[in-house]
Amino acid sequence: MFKKLAETLFGKGPSEPSSDGFFLNVRCSECSEQFNLFINTSHELMQNFETDGSVNYSLKKEVFGVGCKNRIYVRMKFDGSKKLVSREIENGEYIEEKTKC
Ligand SMILES: [Zn+2]
Repeated sequence: MFKKLAETLFGKGPSEPSSDGFFLNVRCSECSEQFNLFINTSHELMQNFETDGSVNYSLKKEVFGVGCKNRIYVRMKFDGSKKLVSREIENGEYIEEKTKC
């Protein structure tokens, strides 16, 4: 008797970007406090018009916690379809999503 294994595509994990935004996970380099900020790509990205007529997006975020006076500066750049192309961070670090196996 054959038993077919149905591959499920459900439950891929919370790291999948939704259409409305994504989670920005950063850690303070001073006190290791972690921040999980939801970035709404519909409202929080700045639209930039290039001289050649193309459009791209950018995000600037200042993050500060309660534990210390450190301020984390996050800068991200996105292409015209709001896909992340580059990112920078000062005074902190990005926390990479752990992928489940
Ligand atoms: Zn801190």
